[in-house]
Amino acid sequence: MGFWWRPLSVLASVLLVALILWAASGWVAALGFLAGIQAFVMLRRLWQEFRLARWLENPDEVEPPDATGTWGDIFYRLQKLQRRQKASRGRLTSALEQFEHAAMAVPDGMVILNGSEQIDWCNPASRRYLGLDCERDRGQFVRYLLRQAHFLEFLDAADYSRRLVCKSPVNREITLSLQLVPFDESKKLLVARDITDLERVDEMRRDFIANVSHELRTPLTVVGGFVETLAGAPDLPAADSRHYFDLMLDHTRRMQHLLDDLLTLSRLESADHLLHDEPVNVPEMAHALKAEAESLSRGRHSVRLEIDSAAWLAGNLQEIRSALGNLVSNAVRYTPEGGAITLAWRERDGEGEFSVTDTGEGIAAEHIPRLTERFYRVDRSRSRETGGTGLGLAIVKHVLTRHGARLDIQSTPGKGSTFSAVFPAQRVQPPPTPESGKLIPFPEREQATG
Ligand code: ADP
Repeated sequence: MGFWWRPLSVLASVLLVALILWAASGWVAALGFLAGIQAFVMLRRLWQEFRLARWLENPDEVEPPDATGTWGDIFYRLQKLQRRQKASRGRLTSALEQFEHAAMAVPDGMVILNGSEQIDWCNPASRRYLGLDCERDRGQFVRYLLRQAHFLEFLDAADYSRRLVCKSPVNREITLSLQLVPFDESKKLLVARDITDLERVDEMRRDFIANVSHELRTPLTVVGGFVETLAGAPDLPAADSRHYFDLMLDHTRRMQHLLDDLLTLSRLESADHLLHDEPVNVPEMAHALKAEAESLSRGRHSVRLEIDSAAWLAGNLQEIRSALGNLVSNAVRYTPEGGAITLAWRERDGEGEFSVTDTGEGIAAEHIPRLTERFYRVDRSRSRETGGTGLGLAIVKHVLTRHGARLDIQSTPGKGSTFSAVFPAQRVQPPPTPESGKLIPFPEREQATG
């Protein structure tokens, strides 16, 4: 109503004046007055239309017209409309820009295909995974650029619930999972995700299960075979059945040992950080380990101990004991009779180094980087003969990693090896004085030395 009020009141005023003029001076004066007003209105209208047209042609650069009265109202409303549109255009542009930036930053390769499977758009990751270039390949048919048979088959199947797992056409080291997502009427989004790490973990899991099953199958088959033999021949001579029982016990112990190592590994893997961080009396532990080596060797090797440092370690007693025990047991098992084994504890540049040196068979250089992998063995049958599970050094590596320590391996085939557990300076600490702290109980000491 506000808008109409002004023109109506002007019209009413003009008519009123025309009527007064008619009454006062006759109809010629009234008509003359009306013609004059008409001419003024027409000219004003032409002028305002011209200003409006000029502004509408370039509203961002030309100053908006201003006027009073009805034209002022019209201009004001148009300007308001234009400002609102400009603001919403700005919002839309910034949302679009944000979306584009986000799509560019997405780590997955993304390609938008139109209804004819031509590339409309793709992000930088699609260059890394699929070798596509948004500028160069826009408008190209995707099947001419990615021509692998399994990809074409995947495209033809148009089964949007399916994912295609394949090697990247630009880098065979990368495994991709491709997925097609339909949108709009006929468009499709091709998503390429790097699943190399997932595949690797999956492969490790499969290998691990295969290895464990394999390791358990042999002793289980042996034990099962003997049980059958014993059950089927109750009159077997006592010496024979004794022998079978010994072998069964041997294989049962092997399985037990394997399960113990598996549980240790799983415990180590399930907690990233150390459960107990306590002072560990390494010189005392070294004595116990020497006794353990002698007990395992049963006089077949000479075992020496060199303790050049009284330092202790801050760490987990049980874990360190188990890691160093594995190094000692390996030295005994892989050193032929008559060989020498030396255990040493020293400080080197502030680091604490516990090393086990043997004069055994040694290891060829190409095997060394893989020794800490689970079930990796240089000589499978030698490891089994000596009761190995293939998990010892994997446990050592885990324990040392949790302590921020490292395993150094020096070895010469035919001459021997040195395995050193090197602990960082911040874990090496002086032995506690009687006033400063209590001595750490060492449960194995009595048994090992006794
Ligand atoms: P295993 O139970 O087979 O001994 P480990 O993980 O302890 O498993 O060791 C992995 C492999 O490293 C062993 O199978 C063996 O081939 C090699 N190895 C470990 N310690 C020694 C050593 N002191 N001398 C020679 N070879 C060794």
